[in-house]
Amino acid sequence: MTVPEAITIDGPASSGKSTVGAILARDLNYLYFDTGVMYRAVTLGVLQSNISMLEESRITTLAEKVVIDIKPPSKEDTRQYDVLLNGVDVTWKIRTREVDQHVSQVSAYAGVRKAMTFQQRQIGLRGKVVMVGRDIGTIVLPEAKLKIYLDASAEVRAMRRYQELINRGEQASYENILAGLRKRDEIDSTRKIAPLKPAEDAVIIDTDQMTVQEVVERIKAEIR
Ligand code: C5P
Repeated sequence: MTVPEAITIDGPASSGKSTVGAILARDLNYLYFDTGVMYRAVTLGVLQSNISMLEESRITTLAEKVVIDIKPPSKEDTRQYDVLLNGVDVTWKIRTREVDQHVSQVSAYAGVRKAMTFQQRQIGLRGKVVMVGRDIGTIVLPEAKLKIYLDASAEVRAMRRYQELINRGEQASYENILAGLRKRDEIDSTRKIAPLKPAEDAVIIDTDQMTVQEVVERIKAEIR
């Protein structure tokens, strides 16, 4: 069995990419890299600097300057990794509703994408990586030999996200989550640059009726 050097997993919000990607990377002894973290970190930086979401040039400058680091987890609080923004731990701060609400707008800006894509490609080209996002198979690593596109209905994705928050002891409204996911998908899939879509040679997996382990096994079958 020859495992492809890079495996890309794209798909809409809460389609299970991160969970599946992390398990697959662990099983293959590959690096797991969730690119959404970078767009979230830039968005948090914009919020913290009180820059308006409409100020594309200031946001681009910020994206070009920020230092985003992803490191092994330093705490046992269910985190998969530490995310550092200019040296500060923002692992949970990038998961707030405020970041959710603005991240698609920030990540639609050309200059932001250019800065993030460049860094992601450098890491991807080193190989032995499972890279997760929206445009990895189409733009970041189009030469990858195995491209997966995970899909699921908005309702199932919203329910999974709802359960996740409740399990973490947070307050959540299914209706609000569903509306938020739909809005994010709409912006992500209709933006001019690097819209969310499956690569032409991607394996599309509909996960509505599948468990996480079944999805992982399905991807391993593709590898074989
Ligand atoms: O995957 P996650 O939901 O954390 O991604 C947050 C947002 O970052 C997405 O809704 C999308 O706007 C953006 N993103 C992107 N390209 C990627 C990964 C994420 O535009 N490769």
